[in-house]
Amino acid sequence: MEECIFCKVVSGDISSKSVMDTDNVLVLKDIAPKAPIHYLIIPKKHLQDLRSFEDIDSNLAGELLLTAQKLSELNDGIPFRILINNGHEVGQRVNHVHLHFLAGKELPELF
Ligand code: AMP
Ligand code: ZN
Repeated sequence: MEECIFCKVVSGDISSKSVMDTDNVLVLKDIAPKAPIHYLIIPKKHLQDLRSFEDIDSNLAGELLLTAQKLSELNDGIPFRILINNGHEVGQRVNHVHLHFLAGKELPELF
């Protein structure tokens, strides 16, 4: 995925300071934070969005969620929201799936 910025971050072609780096998952601070704490949880495998996941990716899906749990633990169990945009029409701008981890202030109620 030559043109994918998150693949370039994963490969090191774009330098970044990661918050967490495991075999399968990278966590970055969002460059344009929408909350006092705004991390991006990114699988190292290129998958466009949740619609691209297959059965073989089920462990990875779980790992992404457990990464969110760990990030909360690292911040004293802070309450957080996970947001995933799946498709340009709903706001996805980087076509490599990522979980937004948002915390550190009261977030507007969506429902
Ligand atoms: P989305 O609109 O859901 O695709 O979110 C993309 C997010 O990636 C935005 O919140 C951007 O601020 C963020 N972003 C884009 N490039 C980088 C980068 N190199 N490092 C950290 N965050 C980035
Ligand atoms: Zn990618």
